[in-house]
Amino acid sequence: MKVPFNSFQPMHDELQQELQSAIETVVKSNWFVLGEQKQLFEAEFASFCGAKYCVGVGNGLEAIYLLLRAYEIGPGDEVIVPSNTYIATALAVSYTGALPVFVEPKKETYLIDPLLIREKITENTKAIIPVHLYGQPADMNEINAIAKEYGLLVIEDVAQAHGARYYGKRTGNLGNAGAFSFYPGKNLGAMGDAGAVVTNDETIADRVRVLSNYGSDRKYHNLYKGHNSRLDEIQAAILRVKLKELDRWNTHRRQTAEKYLNGIQNQAIQKPIVNAGREPVWHIFPIRTAARDALQTHLRDHGIETLIHYPIPMHLQEAYQDLNMKEGALPIAEEIAYTELSLPMFYGITDEQVEYVIDVLNHDFV
Ligand SMILES: *Cc1c(COP(=O)(O)O)cnc(C)c1O
Repeated sequence: MKVPFNSFQPMHDELQQELQSAIETVVKSNWFVLGEQKQLFEAEFASFCGAKYCVGVGNGLEAIYLLLRAYEIGPGDEVIVPSNTYIATALAVSYTGALPVFVEPKKETYLIDPLLIREKITENTKAIIPVHLYGQPADMNEINAIAKEYGLLVIEDVAQAHGARYYGKRTGNLGNAGAFSFYPGKNLGAMGDAGAVVTNDETIADRVRVLSNYGSDRKYHNLYKGHNSRLDEIQAAILRVKLKELDRWNTHRRQTAEKYLNGIQNQAIQKPIVNAGREPVWHIFPIRTAARDALQTHLRDHGIETLIHYPIPMHLQEAYQDLNMKEGALPIAEEIAYTELSLPMFYGITDEQVEYVIDVLNHDFV
């Protein structure tokens, strides 16, 4: 049996008519940037998150970056990020001129360890960026308490957790502001690049809106040296169609995850742990095993496609040579990088496919 890692087809097949007519509406309107679709999506997505404001931007990386700029974070400042996230989280900090400071996760949940955050706080620390990695909300109560104690901002990286809940509340609405990516492969994906910022702070929403459009508050009047990072009308129209289905799609992912969690019974495999109060959305279903490369080959030989998120930790990337951090500097991030494997996970994966993956995993592979 063939099991792909991901497939857009079940989602897009169901919505083909609606997606096409949404695109057609934009084509016929002859208005492609900063129009009605973006405005409508912003209102709908803010309401989905339970927040007051949403600003559509060009992508997830720029959503984080524009928030940092809106909060006036820059050279000389430090921002705490998890040591095991996609590099975009750290790059957004670097672009402002501030220093990303890496904090290790808990191995079992893959989420930034609040107990280790405190040790990395200095007089230059301005913000914490928790990442709801793989779709599970980070330990926000603990993180918010630390932020309050030290007067820090909390900016959520929600690129992998659209619609997830933490004690009933949606992610993106758990700190000062949230940054979303709608890269096609995310739980809510556009058909190109797209992103958004969500917050209850009107000043910050306004600033991100202005910064994302050349720093312009009205035509040919520029308040800041801004950027061009705008959610276009076609992507906004597509996202509006898909947003209506997101909770149902995420429920299917949770059912798939339940099957993996109950079905995988191999002592050589560590399954992810879900903490109390979380409703994860399983952007990724991560397992860990010492024989990761052997297992990946074994699965590939059986027609099962897997990926690694992420094979090289950020501090060991060439891009961050300047931080001068050697192998061994962040042992938990390194261990995860060398042992993690992401199983097939997408809306529409069939029961037969999931059971087949479980069956292959439960047989010896080394
Ligand atoms: C995808 C991703 C981003 C960046 O989003 P883009 O839209 O690709 O720029 C940021 N953070 C995390 C955790 C991501 O997974």
